[in-house]
Amino acid sequence: MFGKKAGFDPDFDLKIEESLAKNQYPSEKLDAARAMENPSLCAQMCTPEVWEKYKDVTSSGPAKWTLARAINTGVTYPDSFVGCHAGDMESYDDFADFFHPVIEAYHKGFSMKEGSSLTGTPSERMDSDKINIDLTDSAHDKIASTRIRVARNLSMFPLNPGGTRETREEVADLMAKVYAGIPADSDLAGEFSLHTKMTDEQRQALIDGHFLFRGKDRMQAASGYHEHWPHGRGVYVNNDKTFINWVNEGDHLRIISMEMGGDVKAVFARLSAGTKAIEDGVRAISGVEDVFMMHPKFGAVTCCPSNIGTGMRGSVHIMVPKLIKAIGFDEIDRLCRERNCQARGSTGEHSEVVDRIDVSNWRRIGLPEYELVEDMIKCANFLATEEDKL
Ligand code: ADP
Ligand code: MG
Repeated sequence: MFGKKAGFDPDFDLKIEESLAKNQYPSEKLDAARAMENPSLCAQMCTPEVWEKYKDVTSSGPAKWTLARAINTGVTYPDSFVGCHAGDMESYDDFADFFHPVIEAYHKGFSMKEGSSLTGTPSERMDSDKINIDLTDSAHDKIASTRIRVARNLSMFPLNPGGTRETREEVADLMAKVYAGIPADSDLAGEFSLHTKMTDEQRQALIDGHFLFRGKDRMQAASGYHEHWPHGRGVYVNNDKTFINWVNEGDHLRIISMEMGGDVKAVFARLSAGTKAIEDGVRAISGVEDVFMMHPKFGAVTCCPSNIGTGMRGSVHIMVPKLIKAIGFDEIDRLCRERNCQARGSTGEHSEVVDRIDVSNWRRIGLPEYELVEDMIKCANFLATEEDKL
């Protein structure tokens, strides 16, 4: 498990922190992380007691995941927010005294001891007619684009941090067949491109259009997301460039609906239809009934505990230049968090603000997806009002 060679960009190779490579408690690193103003969830929850309990345990799933691997990001990078990852669905319960408190701390108000957090069927939960609030005219005018995605993993494979080059390639092969089965006259029809077959120019054009993951994220690299890069990585883009799937960025699938402007309901409706089409397509090709990895308590299983539950992040890119100048990004993020949302930079997580701010729901669990979209709309309306005051 330790020291596997990742491949193409040594700067973003998987590096295991020294003490973890020896399976020793990283006390120096975690003590330092805990002394920070906002310690990562990893540093808070991986106490010496938790470490002792699990240090020789391997998960019962296909990844044979270990606590050392699970916490590598948080130990390597004390400035992580979450800082831990699962290698398979079983990790979440096999390391329950670690992961459950992380989950409850991130998804405030959700308890692993209570029953299932999922209410209603997926189509009820993702019904765009249930969105009961609109963007104000002022907010609408300031919105450059809208994007809503769900993270999904396929039940027949380990999660990618615990996978191999072969499992990643099998996921991509399966998805290529699913995409080939989308009827040519469907709104979702498009083209699947593999990273191994793309030119650098094609890849950069997709990144610049916000259609593709950037890769090369130091925190993600430490989780194992980038291992065997770029094998098994790909992107599906429909002809209108409004329905996108990322294959094996971190999670097996990121199913994305996006378009210019602020028609949030239309974006959500397309996401709902597209997610169902992908689920039906995988079922038809694989013959597996329950194609998405679903945990009985929290729902969709993802590599990072922040995404579990609905796996949904709905965002708008909003132009609030005066507000950025007056109070700065960190303060905007704080105001968003008070409203169950978060702010990100102009090109995604861990990126700088160039002009636009990415505002999205912070919660992912315990609420139906349409209510999470409502959180985001309310927050965008709030930021627009603040901008107008200046
Ligand atoms: P995710 O939560 O899907 O992993 P990231 O923060 O990693 O999102 O961003 C992924 C990409 O999606 C980036 O290129 C980012 O700029 C783009 N993106 C996010 N929200 C929007 C939006 N509302 N409009 C256009 N692009 C967006
Ligand atoms: Mg991301």
